[in-house]
Amino acid sequence: MQLGEIKGIGLTTEKYLNELGIYTGEDLINYYPFRYEIIEKTNIDDLKDGDKIIIDGTIESLPNVIYFRGKNKNKMSFTLNTGDFITKIDIFNRANYIKDKLLIGTQITVIGKYDRKHNSITASDIKFGLIEKTVIEPVYHSSFKINSTKISKIIKKTLDKVKVLDYIPKSICEKYNFMDKERAVKIIHNPQDKRSLNKALERLKYEELFNFMLKINYLKNSKKQGDGLERKVDYKKVTDFIETLPFELTKDQDKSIQDIYNDLISKNRMNRLLQGDVGSGKTVVAFIALYINYLSKYQGALMAPTEILAQQHFNNIKKILPSLNIVLLKGKMKAKEKRETLEQIEKGQANIIIGTHALISEDVTYKNLGLVITDEQHRFGVNQRGNLKNKGINPDILYMSATPIPRTYALTLYGDMDISSIKTMPNGRKPVETILLGSSKEDINKYLSMMLREMKNGHQIYAVAPLVEESEKIDLKNVYEIEENLKKAFKKFPDYKIGIIHGKMKPEEKDKVMKEFKDNKIQILISTTVIEVGVDVENATMMIIYDSFRFGLSALHQLRGRVGRNDLDSYCVLLSDKETKRLDVLTKTNDGFKVSEEDFKLRGGGDIFGIRQSGDMNFKLADIKNDFELLLKAKEDSARFIKSQEFEEDINKHIKEEALNSSNQD
Ligand code: ADP
Ligand code: MG
Repeated sequence: MQLGEIKGIGLTTEKYLNELGIYTGEDLINYYPFRYEIIEKTNIDDLKDGDKIIIDGTIESLPNVIYFRGKNKNKMSFTLNTGDFITKIDIFNRANYIKDKLLIGTQITVIGKYDRKHNSITASDIKFGLIEKTVIEPVYHSSFKINSTKISKIIKKTLDKVKVLDYIPKSICEKYNFMDKERAVKIIHNPQDKRSLNKALERLKYEELFNFMLKINYLKNSKKQGDGLERKVDYKKVTDFIETLPFELTKDQDKSIQDIYNDLISKNRMNRLLQGDVGSGKTVVAFIALYINYLSKYQGALMAPTEILAQQHFNNIKKILPSLNIVLLKGKMKAKEKRETLEQIEKGQANIIIGTHALISEDVTYKNLGLVITDEQHRFGVNQRGNLKNKGINPDILYMSATPIPRTYALTLYGDMDISSIKTMPNGRKPVETILLGSSKEDINKYLSMMLREMKNGHQIYAVAPLVEESEKIDLKNVYEIEENLKKAFKKFPDYKIGIIHGKMKPEEKDKVMKEFKDNKIQILISTTVIEVGVDVENATMMIIYDSFRFGLSALHQLRGRVGRNDLDSYCVLLSDKETKRLDVLTKTNDGFKVSEEDFKLRGGGDIFGIRQSGDMNFKLADIKNDFELLLKAKEDSARFIKSQEFEEDINKHIKEEALNSSNQD
């Protein structure tokens, strides 16, 4: 239906609607309100000037009408007695319609805006009779040119004229006793009471979530069509290898390895996220996965976000798999060394390749890449898989992430991924004791003496200063100021050395300082947040974080994961003069899942983990945080539905098409 066919839409209005992305009658009714203004009977004492109000009362004086602009416009005024007080009512351009009905003693309800100074109300609407219910007004995203009220009026006129398509299968509508879609749409544009509005909203939100989950489930199923590598690996060999490790695996590590093994030997391609808190032991799981892949005669690659981390993985994996040919590929290498490494990869002599981004760069050709693992997945863009696909290879993929993802996010963001979680920490590891301090003299003395105690015990300390985005100069100033203060504080102990790492340093310089810290030649390492993720300095038992209010909770939790890496008692001091309530969460729990759920609650959806929500998740009504229970239902229902006969019917065709389209894009 064209906009022009709708009464009240002239060319100008049509243009304004177009600017809001509305081109047809269908677009109009699909233009849902983004919120509602709920106007309850108002208590006049609570009113501020300009407040929206709804009151009822009896008319005390006959209306007086003033005409202007040659009778085109008019203003009608009268007094109303609400029982508590008497007020003047003004209403524009209604004289011709309701003046005759406004008799003294008539009971009416007035909706409008209160003008405190003049004790008057400018009414937007007058209804006859006393208030029986609240008034709910839809509010639409609007523009300077066309306001929400006007949009609302136009939509109300359109409601009966456009056919509404229903995307929820019959069986499910019956299961939840959902109202008709058509009725639901009418209600959300023209709500009469909260109860029916809520039911209508639930119905429409469910539809959005159901469609979304259906798409994901469909994708998931269609990907599982034997596109993986077929492998034969004897699990006995895997357990034999696990026996040789210096520690016993935790239950969750064991379970994750089984998940991965099953994925690898199945005909379907693996697309799995291994998530687990900092220090939960994901790396060894990755190594075992690489070993399984090796046993099935494929090359495997492990990609780390930084060189120093790649180096660490390289050193560690060589220790536990000494008989394999493992190579390290970095961005910066001597030309000859690089050439040789690339050759080994191309000829298939290299069994396992550890590296940075360099792994997916153009000059690398793999002989037979079977498995790619990315460590700290959230630090990369989401699209490495795309890069590999462009190379014409389609290996099994394992992502690892230490940023714990609350189940809500896991479910949506990684919806077409399988997930293994490591929730238990390796034995012997103690929670990091976290305290919150301010800048009083007492507090400063407290953390300085803690630092001294730790150093006297032979341990090391991280001191972290936040990045101030606006100015790198301030960053450096912060770092050097901290250095100066600490030097002053520990000047009686010249043996304790202080090192600095900051963003402006060259990678080689950073690596050098980091190595000195690792070798305990430096006792206190001051840094901006460039502390390399995942690097193990077991002897570090204390971290002090300056201006910690500048960090997100998850980031702070990540940072403190740098300490407490063995069975020593360890400490994290959060310094902050602001927002201590938010930071309190960290003093109470060491569980990354809890922390990130808290973070999630505080910050709402969106860009929490540096990965923007996919466009698919921009629901019009639903909100993955508030409507989580509904999302779970939709997830289950859609998984079941997809296997049913009903799914083959026409109405869900668009889901299949959309799903296929979006999967081609990644
Ligand atoms: P992350 O999950 O943060 O990557 P790592 O894999 O770096 O954690 O593991 C942290 C430390 O714990 C490493 O030194 C590793 O050797 C050790 N570790 C891993 N698994 C176990 C285990 N089951 N028992 C004891 N120590 C373990
Ligand atoms: Mg790690």
